Amino acid sequence: MSDHTERRYAQGLDDADVLAGFRDRVVIADPEQIYLDGNSLGRLPATTATRLQAAVTGDWGRGLVGSWQGWVEQATRVGDLIGTELLGAAAGEVAVSDSTSVNLYKLAAAALGAHPDRRVIVTDDDNFPTDRYVLAGLAEQRGCELRVVHSDIDGGLDSDDLSAAIDDDVALVTLSHVAYRSGARIDLAACGELAHAHGALVLWDLSHSAGSVSVELSATGADLAVGCTYKYLCAGPGAPAFLYVRSDLQAALRQPIWGWFGQSAQFEMGAGYDPHPSIRRFGVGTPSVLATYAVEEGARLIAEAGVDRLAAKGAALTTLAIELADEWLAPLGLRVVTPRDPGRRGAHITLQHPAAWQICQALVHDGVVADYRTPQRLRLGPAPLYTRFVDVYDAIVRLRELVASGRHARYDAEPTRVT
Ligand SMILES: *Cc1c(COP(=O)(O)O)cnc(C)c1O
Repeated sequence: MSDHTERRYAQGLDDADVLAGFRDRVVIADPEQIYLDGNSLGRLPATTATRLQAAVTGDWGRGLVGSWQGWVEQATRVGDLIGTELLGAAAGEVAVSDSTSVNLYKLAAAALGAHPDRRVIVTDDDNFPTDRYVLAGLAEQRGCELRVVHSDIDGGLDSDDLSAAIDDDVALVTLSHVAYRSGARIDLAACGELAHAHGALVLWDLSHSAGSVSVELSATGADLAVGCTYKYLCAGPGAPAFLYVRSDLQAALRQPIWGWFGQSAQFEMGAGYDPHPSIRRFGVGTPSVLATYAVEEGARLIAEAGVDRLAAKGAALTTLAIELADEWLAPLGLRVVTPRDPGRRGAHITLQHPAAWQICQALVHDGVVADYRTPQRLRLGPAPLYTRFVDVYDAIVRLRELVASGRHARYDAEPTRVT
């Protein structure tokens, strides 16, 4: 095997990559551009445009209201695909609906309702902003305590700190599986056990892990989960999210938004709200049907590639990125802050540098799409479905050349509205 600092080493990994063919299954509009932001917005699957075209002209244009016979099952049909193929859940435990933020609110509120005698929600201070805001709002509305555990922005949550925060007043523990900034990954089984030991429910946010690392919801005893579909699942901007509720909990949990799509006999238009006993009770209003076709296309592609193979390739891509960064970027002041154990990280890596925002802008200008997260963090997300090892290699070479030249200093130091 040749030295990993030689391009032919990366080329060799591509030659041996069982997923290499999947690059042709997504749209690559500019072959010169290296796209390392699949953790923020996944690429467009090649079949999605035609599927949406058929849905628009056929199912909607020709089928009109009659198409609801099929559409009414879509949220749970696509949910089953995601649950059984990508999340290690059973059929009937996952549905597609709303946004991740709204699903988090619904499930966290349902968990509080299941434990009326308990007044505490536990999360961590490095959780994704929308999660922290939604939980803070819910705690204020319910007169509950939001207990926020300190978590290292690079290394992630320490299980002793989590353990110390959980007692018998805790109704719910809710955390992100993979940290959005550093990529640090928590152990679902171990963290879940800490919560269950005190009788609390657990709610995972899988937005940065679904489709990129192995998620075994049933095997790890998960209670509840949410996650988004426009990152590794390639469902497109604003595509509806998914929610998971373990089957034995469903009938006992009540979500706070009593919409007709959660009703047991929806078209009887009954006087009172009587939620369906199944996962359907977590639906609210008329779902985003067209966008859910795109969720289905993306999830099918990820299922075909196989989560275990994607996880293995994600670990190999980030390992190569870390090795090259240690060799070439560390001497230039760009420090890898993501955990080095592949079992403790997701499919992206993060580099710290005081001028990270300027470097990020210059890098995008040079044809390598990465992104910036405050403070001083540059994220590289080589989504395993369609990123080649040579893309990682070439990106790090360009990054080295850029930072060594100092050209990034010409870029604005003030971040724009979207970073
Ligand atoms: C991307 C992401 C979200 C997004 O939530 P939306 O409601 O879709 O805006 C939520 N949580 C985490 C952890 C994320 O990474």
